Amino acid sequence: MDKVRMTLDECRALATEVLTQNGCDGANAAAIAAIITAAERDRAHSHGLFRLPGYVTSLRNGKANGRAAPRAERIAPTVVRLDGDGGFTPLSHQVGRAPLIAAARETGMAALAIRRTIHFAALWPETEALAEEGLVAFAFTTSPPYLAPAGGKRRFFGTNPMSFAWPRGGSGCGRPPMVFDQASAAMARGEVMMAARDGRTLPEGAGIDAAGNPTTDPNAVLAGAQLPFGGYKGSAIALMVELLAGQLIGEVSSAEAGDADNRDGTAALGGELILALDPARFGAEDPIGHAERLFARMLAEEGVRLPGDRRFRARLETPQAGIEVPRSLFETIEGLRTG
Ligand code: NDP
Repeated sequence: MDKVRMTLDECRALATEVLTQNGCDGANAAAIAAIITAAERDRAHSHGLFRLPGYVTSLRNGKANGRAAPRAERIAPTVVRLDGDGGFTPLSHQVGRAPLIAAARETGMAALAIRRTIHFAALWPETEALAEEGLVAFAFTTSPPYLAPAGGKRRFFGTNPMSFAWPRGGSGCGRPPMVFDQASAAMARGEVMMAARDGRTLPEGAGIDAAGNPTTDPNAVLAGAQLPFGGYKGSAIALMVELLAGQLIGEVSSAEAGDADNRDGTAALGGELILALDPARFGAEDPIGHAERLFARMLAEEGVRLPGDRRFRARLETPQAGIEVPRSLFETIEGLRTG
């Protein structure tokens, strides 16, 4: 595949310019561009520049508020509620992080309940940022309905990702946190879309066609439904995510979000729940050191690695190597410029 090479600074500048030219103010453009650049840096391409045309689509058709001014309010000792003002999540995360951290340090455990936001990114940036501050973190969000529940043939759940991060010493210790971030679907939708773009087939079990028959054709799955990972177990996780990022915080479920969505192929307006726990407040003598001994014992076996380590390895290599973007994607992005 023909590729265009660029540095991370060039990636950030390109994303910022295109977002600004398409309706974002400086703060929203910078926050989204930072998330896109971080994904490219970590070779998490399905949430890197690949997403930029989708962000622009929702800005242009008015679904997303490019000038969103998120507002956080502490409504209980352990709960910070944040109104995302109809914008994409990255700026909401920036605004909500400090009050969430303060509440978690004060009480031992706190929640950030984000409403009226569009989550079109990976979840690891928000949990990883909290773990870098020494906190244990969870994040949950819904998405438009793409996933058939176990036993079903019709789309009902979102691909409903969840992420968990565990601190390994905080900023500057040289050891990044342990972070996992996974969709409730057998495959993230971005991966299915990239397989369709690149003409690849999907692994068995990724989805069903519009008639409910198993298929490995990504286009048929995009027209039909994705399947949960691990059958009924993934389906239960998807249901839990619905309740945590929907009903619990006064937001829509995936099916309701789909009813209200303009179906432009991006994410829908909805909610996200982020939890932060302070390990220093749970009465354990040395939880971080104890966890290090667990990791060491686990990693003693060849072939075993910690979730997140692939990204962190890529992160170390990328600044020197730069990134490679498919030329067709680069040209699509260049075509989104309005100035
Ligand atoms: P993957 O299946 O690629 O990875 C899931 C997790 O497993 C990652 O943390 C990964 O770490 C880890 N992992 C993978 N292989 C191993 C291994 N051999 N040993 C240990 N850990 C491993 O992710 P998904 O396809 O499920 O999701 C991709 C992304 O899509 C996520 O970032 C998710 O947030 C995002 N998403 C966003 C949605 C939204 O609405 N905003 C909706 C659905 C998904 P590593 O990264 O190090 O490989």
